[in-house]
Amino acid sequence: PKKIDILGVKVDPVTMEEAVAQVETYMDEMCGVLVATANAEMIMRATHDHELMKILNNAALVVPDGAGTVWAAHHLGHEMPERVAGYDLAQELMRRAPEKKRRIFFFGSAPGVAELAKKKAESLYPGIEIVGTRNGFFSEKDEPGIIEEIRKAKPDLLLAALGVPKQEKWLYAHKDELGVPVSIGVGGTLDVMAG
Ligand code: UDP
Repeated sequence: PKKIDILGVKVDPVTMEEAVAQVETYMDEMCGVLVATANAEMIMRATHDHELMKILNNAALVVPDGAGTVWAAHHLGHEMPERVAGYDLAQELMRRAPEKKRRIFFFGSAPGVAELAKKKAESLYPGIEIVGTRNGFFSEKDEPGIIEEIRKAKPDLLLAALGVPKQEKWLYAHKDELGVPVSIGVGGTLDVMAG
């Protein structure tokens, strides 16, 4: 289905099931794509942050995260089947990861959080391979090392929790060097998992 324009941000009218299937295909095909989860706050920010707008409109998939995005689409007279929250999308992908043998990297949040989230993922989704963790507080000089760490771990899926718009901008800027099939900015997901 055609993307829906909400204040200039092109959002994909997909269900959770369709979003998951699409991401699985990107991983199978090793596409090297960004997936964004557009909530109302992100869309509002993109209206005055042109770099973010450009990144979102170049993303392979932009899912409708939150009731606000679904409401806006309906208000504009478009079909938007359901809300696809970043946290839920990440959980669905992790749930399928053991069977699909997906390698996942957790990047972001305060020191220790990604490790706790990894332990949680391992108890929720037995057999899951979280192939690396790195906290999200760093300076520019640390970036080559972080990129190298992610490259070496060879994840199929990179979940970046640096907050909006830092995560989208970082993933976009380093997309080619990272060489990861699919990267998704997931905001507070690791914090929630870590409890
Ligand atoms: N964060 C980070 N590096 C930073 C700034 C923030 O890793 O330089 C993390 C922060 O610890 C938190 C997440 O990014 O885990 C942002 O969560 P929030 O719920 O604020 O996400 P958003 O509302 O941006 O989706």
